[in-house]
Parts: sequence; structure tokens; C-alpha cells
Amino acid sequence: MESIIERVTRGNFWTFHGGVHPPEQKQLTSSKPIKQLPLPKQLILPLQQHIGREGSLLVEVGDKVLKGQALTSSNNPMAVPIHASTSGTISAIKKSIIAHPSGLSELCIFIDVDGKDTWIEREGCDDLSKLSQLDLITKIADAGIAGMGGAGFPTHIKVNNKADINFLIINGVECEPYITADDLLMQERSKEIVNGIRIIDKLLTPTFILIAIEENKPLAIKSLQQKTSAFDHIKVCAVPTKYPAGGEKQLIKILTGQEIKSGSLPIHTGIVMQNIATCFAINDAVYHGTPLLRRVVTVTGQALTQPQNVWALLGTPINFLLTECGAQPQAIKGKQNQQAVIMGGPMMGYSLSSDLVPIIKTSNCILVPSAREMPSAFADTSTEVECIRCGQCSDVCPSQLLPQELQWSAKAKDYPQLEKLNLSDCIDCGACAYVCPSQIPLVQYYRIAKAEIREQQQLDLKADKAKIRFEARKLRLEKEKIAREEKHKKAAAARKAAMNKNTPEAVGAKSAVAAALARVKAKKAKDKLKESALNTKIEDKETIPEVVSDEKDQVKAAIARAKAKRLAKVKEKQQVNSVAEKSKILQESSPNDASKQEEKTLTKISVANNENNVQSQDDKKIKIAAAIAKVKAKKLAQTSYKNDKVGEPNTVSSTGESPQKKDLIAKDAKKAKIASAIAKAKAKKELKEQEKSLTNPENEST
Ligand code: SF4
Ligand code: SF4
Repeated sequence: MESIIERVTRGNFWTFHGGVHPPEQKQLTSSKPIKQLPLPKQLILPLQQHIGREGSLLVEVGDKVLKGQALTSSNNPMAVPIHASTSGTISAIKKSIIAHPSGLSELCIFIDVDGKDTWIEREGCDDLSKLSQLDLITKIADAGIAGMGGAGFPTHIKVNNKADINFLIINGVECEPYITADDLLMQERSKEIVNGIRIIDKLLTPTFILIAIEENKPLAIKSLQQKTSAFDHIKVCAVPTKYPAGGEKQLIKILTGQEIKSGSLPIHTGIVMQNIATCFAINDAVYHGTPLLRRVVTVTGQALTQPQNVWALLGTPINFLLTECGAQPQAIKGKQNQQAVIMGGPMMGYSLSSDLVPIIKTSNCILVPSAREMPSAFADTSTEVECIRCGQCSDVCPSQLLPQELQWSAKAKDYPQLEKLNLSDCIDCGACAYVCPSQIPLVQYYRIAKAEIREQQQLDLKADKAKIRFEARKLRLEKEKIAREEKHKKAAAARKAAMNKNTPEAVGAKSAVAAALARVKAKKAKDKLKESALNTKIEDKETIPEVVSDEKDQVKAAIARAKAKRLAKVKEKQQVNSVAEKSKILQESSPNDASKQEEKTLTKISVANNENNVQSQDDKKIKIAAAIAKVKAKKLAQTSYKNDKVGEPNTVSSTGESPQKKDLIAKDAKKAKIASAIAKAKAKKELKEQEKSLTNPENEST
């Protein structure tokens, strides 16, 4: 431990891998004081200006708000509130383009500025010793402070750490070319910055506090050395100028010689880092009760006539800042008129697609370069050519990655491979792209890949959450079901127990149960009766044709009987005639002839008798058929009578017969009458023919 402090005190720092030395271009703004700007006409405040979650809205369109009034509340540790940067009226709450490489839109609160700049009532504090740790953290959280160096991590979480802290590092390196916001803040507001550092000191109680400033900021170094000279454990460290020395892991390496491994955090090695501007904001929040409403922004570039650092209210549209800093009209319109406007510095910044993008908590620079100053920003087409595998990108990478391989995997969207290559350790410093001879915009490929991976991770997280919710609901429903069943069981048992007692209530309950049971029984019986009636109706339909056929048989049998009777009479007559004829022949013929004739006659008689026997057998059959038909008819009549009695009440007529059945019987009776008449005529005809055949002599010879 001592050796680190000794080395730091002597100015003997460690160095990190890679890094580059781009032209600093800080002289454009470093010698000018921070400018106070007039109020803009409108402010656009995105709800989320930090890493984490956006707060819940506290205002509506039309509300009048005062300067410092909270517009959102933080009901989640990772949610940081936003405040009205000046007084005015909420004119809209809608999605608007924000400062992001992809140019995405987020929910923003629009405030029409009233110009009065009226403050809300604030509660400050003169004596730090009067505030507890919780008071301090609450004040920091309520002030909506998030890391102002670019990361935007909620500060109240970072300063609320119970771990043993060896080093609190205050990052005043500001290594990116052109940017001088922290430099000027350290020059002008070193006292407030040191007050802020002491608040964090009280919260984290680190062993040492190291304030790191690049050597190229002598005024800032001097100012802070003066303000901290009274504190032995606070050291101002003038670190060598090398880009990106301001990276968290790189600065830790420079100051302590410690490597923060991939996937590990500085806190794991007892180190916490805060930005200079964040310390200033903490001072404002705790001592003055002032939330984070403004920040220093470097508005620079050779396309501006007055490049300088300005105090910009959060939510100020960049076109207002550019106008105030002497931008040419085409600069305000952005790329549409071939003027590049970059949010951030030349190494880590990104081009803006709209001049309405607002300043947020992490915005530290607006760069408006001339075409001569930054030709790549004005190129219509990409100047990128194939990678020549020179390896220069790997040499300068401060995170010791393989930028060319990352680029190939990013283009192929090979996310597992990107993970293996530790893409998450890339700090977007742009050193690799800066040295690439093939002009490959390497950082752009990494940013797109990171955004896609993040999106995928969020989708996976959502799916996991949905699954957890589904499982929880299923479990809850099952529990409720079991509880319900248990309740019903208990209620039934209680009822049973109550009924078994001989109290008047139990007797009443019993009779009520008996009545209910009787009702159920009666209903069942009624249903059964209905069902049986329905079946009977169906059977009726099936039986009616049988009735008809039996009636027909009956008629036929009667006809057959009459026919048989007539035939018998005819045959009797014929027999009498035959005997008379025989005796006549015998009398008239000779003995020989007589015997022959007799034989012939006897044969005739025998044939006639045989015919009579056959006829009598037929008669017998007809009689049997008639008897069967009679029985059937009787049975049918009985069934019909029975059915009529059991008829369905709703469809039975006053006579006890259903209308359908009545119709059928009427139809069948008619049919039977017709059949009877036809059979009668047929029998009569047959009889006549038989009589004719029996009396015809020709038929006899045959
Ligand atoms: S610097 Fe450019 S050309 Fe060289 S290896 Fe890297 S990506 Fe390829
Ligand atoms: S942008 Fe990433 S890959 Fe390129 S040098 Fe920086 S850290 Fe390395």
C-alpha cells in the first residue's frame, strides 16, 4: 500500500497497454471562462438520462413547474429522477429523438420556458456533521445525480458501499481531444469540487483519495492542489497525457498498477471512481439542496466562431447552444446541409441526425468541425477498404482485445464468438479505428453488435420474467384451489355437526335438506317420464306400418275365407255332377267299354279329388294366415290403446290421442279400405275364372 502512495507522490506512475496520441485541439476552449447562457425558449427532458430505469411521471401536460421541481419519482433503486431545469409550463410529454448513436426516440417532457427562472423552495445544509449517511445518500438520490463522466451510473448506489475502500479515485483526466469542460470546472470551481469529494469521503471512508488530472491541464492541477493541501490522504496526481488514460480500468492501472480483470469491477479490488463534475453536483445537492439541473458543455470545432464552454441547462436543444456559440446556419441544420455535428469528442463521439437533440446529464461536448478539420465527417461514401491484417489496432487497444477479429465477428453477427473475444471489455475508445489504415469504422461495428446483444438479452430477460410470472400464477391458482376445497370440506363438516345436534336450527336445517332432496327426486322422476314419453312416440312411429299391414292381412283373410266357401260349394256341385255323369256312362256303354269308361271316370274323379285336396290345403293356409292377422290386429289395437294412455301431456289432444298419431291412423284406415276393395274385386275375379275353368270341357281334356 505504502509503495503505491510513494510512487504516486513521486509521480512515478504505471502505464496501460496501447493508447494513442491524437491532436489535442483543447486550446480552442481551454483558455475561455465558462459562459452563462440566456434561457432557451423550450427544454426537452428525456425521462431516462442514466444507466438504469426511468422514474414515474409526476406531472401532466399543462402543469406549471418551478425550477428544481421533480418531474419524475424514483421508486426503484436504479431509477433516477429528473427535474425542471427552469420554470415554465409542460407543453407536451411525448417521444422525441435523444442523444444516442442510433438516433432512437424516448419519452421526453417538453417545457415552455416562462423566462422567470423561479426556484422551488430548497433545503440546504451548512454543516456536514449534522447529516447522517442516510441523509446524505437521500439528498444525492433525490437530486437525480448520475455519473457525469459519460457512464451515467446512479451515484447514490455508487457512494452507498459497505466494502472496505482503499482508493477513491476522482477522475479529472479528460483525455478526449477538444473537450475541456472538466478542465474549466476544476479551474473555476475547485472549492465546490473538493467539498463534493469530502462528502463522498464521509460516505465511503477510503484510505486514500487520488485526484487524477492529465499533465496538459496545469491550471486545474494547481487549483486543486491548493484546495486539497490541508488533507493528507488526498493526493492530486498529474498523470501522463495519453489517450484513453481517462478510461476507468486504464486510470486504475496508471495510479495503482492493478489490472481489473474482464467481468470484474473496481469495487472488487477496493477502488471506487467518481468524475469531477459528479463531485461538483454532489456539493450542490448536499450544501444547497439543488438538484442536477445543469452541466458544463464544451461547444467547440473550427466551424464555430465562438467555441467555448457553457453552462447548459439539461434539456437545452443543441441548436440553441450552436447559435449561442456562433455556428453557421448550416451547422444548426446538421448533416442535412452537409455540416457534421458530433455529440462527444472526435474519438468516442457520434454524429447527430437532428438539431433538436437535448443536452442530458452525460453530455460533455458538441463538436462542429470544419471539412478541413475532420474530412471523414463530411464524406458521402464510406472510405472503408478490406482489412490488411496489419495488427495496429491490437497494438493500440487499451483493453488488449483483438479489434480486427471483433470486427469480423460483428459483421457476421456471431454473438457467441464476440462474447469469447470479450467485446464487453471494449470501452468504445476508438483508438483502433484511429490507427486503422483501411479506414474501417471499427467502433461503429462494435456499437451495433453491442446494441443487438443488449436487445437480445432484454428479450431473454423478458421471457424469463414471463415464465416466472406464469409459474407463480399456476402455483397461486393451485394453492387457491386447495384452500377452496379445504374451506368447503370444513363448511360441510360444520354443517353436518350442526345438523346432528337436536337444536331447533338443526331440525329446520334437516327439513330444508329433506325438502331439497325431495325436489331433486321429483325432478328426476319428471325427467324420466319425459324420456319415456319421447321413446314411446318413436316406437309409435315404428309400429304404425305394422298395424296397417295387419289390417290388410285381416281383410285378405276374410276375402280368402269367402273364396274358400264359394269354391267348396262349387266343388260339391261338381262332385254331384260327376257321380251322375258316371252312372249315366255306365248305363249307356258295353261291359268292356264300361270297365274302360269306368276306369277313365275314376281317374277323372281321382284327379278332381286331388285338386280338391290341394285346394283344401290352400284353404287351410289361408285360414291360418287370417287367424294370425287377426291376432296381430288385436295386439296392435291393444298397443295403440296403451300408447294413447301414456301420451305426452303437452301434445295430447282432448280425446287422449296425439294429433300426429290420429293423422297416421286416419291415413292407414283409408289405405286399408282401398286395399280391401281391391282384394274383394280380385277375389271375385279369381272365383269367376275358377268357375269358368271348372265348367269348361276343354280344360278337362287337358
Ligand atoms: S488496423 Fe485495420 S487493417 Fe489493420 S488489422 Fe486492424 S482492422 Fe485490419
Ligand atoms: S474501441 Fe474497443 S477494440 Fe478498439 S481500441 Fe478501444 S477498446 Fe480496443
